[in-house]
Amino acid sequence: MGNELKRFAGKSALITGAGGGIGRGISLRLAREGADIAACDIDQERLDETMVNIKETGRQGIALVCDVAQEGEIENTAKRALAAFGKIDILVNNAGIGDTNKSFDEIDADLWDKVYAVNVKGPFFLSRGIAMDMIEKKIAGKIISIASTEGKTNRAGSLAYASSKRALIGITQGLAIQLAPHGITVNAICPGLIDTPIWHKADRDMDLPLGSMVKMVGDTAMEQRQLKLLRIGTPDDIAAAVAFLASEDASYMTGQAINVCGGMEFS
Ligand code: NAP
Repeated sequence: MGNELKRFAGKSALITGAGGGIGRGISLRLAREGADIAACDIDQERLDETMVNIKETGRQGIALVCDVAQEGEIENTAKRALAAFGKIDILVNNAGIGDTNKSFDEIDADLWDKVYAVNVKGPFFLSRGIAMDMIEKKIAGKIISIASTEGKTNRAGSLAYASSKRALIGITQGLAIQLAPHGITVNAICPGLIDTPIWHKADRDMDLPLGSMVKMVGDTAMEQRQLKLLRIGTPDDIAAAVAFLASEDASYMTGQAINVCGGMEFS
């Protein structure tokens, strides 16, 4: 993979959704570049698999089972991560859920609230807790949230999901303004189509073999030349961009929402 850079030696990172496809990719990339990792996920089993991979890099890792939709659990997770490493230099708000493209007349208030609790409220309150610690310790930290190209151009017509990702971009900009005086940068990555287990829910709902839905969407996007680079993205594609934003190479960037999408989105 050629990750010989050690840009994060002496740093520690907290990553949510670290048991999932993109979160695991980010955790391993930052660990290979020298960071200790506080890995958070709602799913203990998948988190444990990520921990095995982190340990293989030789870095320290702690597993924090947490539902980012619950304010109390977020607070506890932040406390445990800070107790373990003494500080958090890099926060990656990656945990997110979809709304399985429910139509406007099917979506109910419970689903709406759940999507917003995980995709919007959780990232905000965790960012707030970690930013307050960064300010107290005078850490020029990096906060990175994983939004979506759907938060810029709503191609699939999803309602709760796309609007929640747009809200996350708004929070990124607001925090960037308020935290700039403290030397903390806040940015978002907008992935396009990435092959991860998030797509498996749709496979299961439609009784299709796992991986069918992302392939179908990818094939269509390639046929229509929306997906210019003619391949579906991988967690490593997103992890590389996160590592850049977390590094000093991105020290003059804040409030940005960067597309990593094979050219599917231009704005
Ligand atoms: P994924 O493989 O499903 O990973 C997400 C992880 O977050 C899963 O382990 C999931 O656990 C966990 N999680 C869900 N709800 C949580 C909660 N309340 N608290 C803590 N952890 C929770 O999905 P992914 O594709 O890697 O997605 C990562 C991020 O990228 C998400 O924000 C997603 O919206 C964004 N994104 C993905 C794509 C794509 O094409 N894959 C495109 C654009 C944006 P469970 O499996 O138990 O739910």
